[in-house]
Amino acid sequence: MNIPLSSTLTRIVLAARPQGEPTADNFRLEQVPMPSPGEGQVLLRNHYLSLDPYMRGRMNAGRSYAKPVEIGEVMDGGTVSEVIESRHPDLTPGDMVLAHGGWQTHAIADGRALKRKLDAGIAPLTTALGVYGMPGFTAYVGLHEIGKPQPGETVVVAAASGPVGATVGQIARLQGARTVGIAGGERKRAYLQDELGFDVALDHRAPDFAAQLRAACPQGIDVYFENVGGAVFDAVLPLLNDFARIPVCGLVAHYNDRALPAGPDRLPMLLSHILTRHLTVRGFIQHDFIQLYPQFLREMGGWLQEGRIKYREYQVDGLENAPAALIGLLKGENFGKVVVKL
Ligand code: NAP
Repeated sequence: MNIPLSSTLTRIVLAARPQGEPTADNFRLEQVPMPSPGEGQVLLRNHYLSLDPYMRGRMNAGRSYAKPVEIGEVMDGGTVSEVIESRHPDLTPGDMVLAHGGWQTHAIADGRALKRKLDAGIAPLTTALGVYGMPGFTAYVGLHEIGKPQPGETVVVAAASGPVGATVGQIARLQGARTVGIAGGERKRAYLQDELGFDVALDHRAPDFAAQLRAACPQGIDVYFENVGGAVFDAVLPLLNDFARIPVCGLVAHYNDRALPAGPDRLPMLLSHILTRHLTVRGFIQHDFIQLYPQFLREMGGWLQEGRIKYREYQVDGLENAPAALIGLLKGENFGKVVVKL
């Protein structure tokens, strides 16, 4: 049995629920005694922590698809972790696993929950938190099960330099669709066009963004992969074709909202578009399609090894910098999948 190197672990807990945009005061860094694994459990050293937009939702109380983080609890999060002590027969010290280790340097996990040992031979380990993990799977199932793009159709996606949007655009293109990517700022826009191969890339901050989108979609929009909501959705709605499909994946433009936006009630207009244009609008959480995970690993593993899908990471050093990085992620300060090196 290995002896842990340190007698304490460092972690970040939810100190208070945010009102609107989170602040540093909503988080607290703590040191606590190192736990020991019980029967069937392992002690993990977390090497990389994923930061994801869903974490903002977990900071709120109230009903959602997952239970909130309670005050004083460790912030939730996926991790690339190393087994350093094992009381599970299938796991040995040195194994690298995909875990839900949270915002902390070490974690106890039930060995049965650690289904995926990581193989750096297929793709770098950190991709298990991005393109070759939950966000990539989200893109894959949202398109596969709801978007269903056909060759020649127009697929539009925003947050398109992030791990979900970038993967959506590239898979849609592999399937023969015409792709329009939307991101914030010229640097990201150019990346979509020049590196990721979107047919057209637009900056949603441009004052004439809605007109640019209309010009970019002369045949209308067949699939709008909804990651953001807000002004992007307003520009998309009039361009949707009959029988368009809208996988509603995320609404990051609204995660910090404290109230409904001012202005006229547009619900009747939205419902009228859904009705008269025969739209399919379906919300989903990637886990709804978990039976497709092995298929995703096979197919995405192949695409990555063949260089047909590209990705970009935005690495942050040190657990203590995770709160600022999450606050920035919700405003587009990241450029690529946010991974914290612990
Ligand atoms: P991400 O792209 O790395 O980060 C979020 C991005 O949203 C920011 O970088 C920013 O990019 C963009 N953004 C923020 N405010 C915006 C606004 N007002 N208008 C337009 N864009 C805005 O995030 P991700 O991990 O790939 O996730 C993308 C979406 O998928 C999120 O909504 C997330 O909640 C959702 N998601 C859903 C599931 C599911 O199971 N349903 C799973 C994973 C993720 P720009 O600088 O380009 O604006």
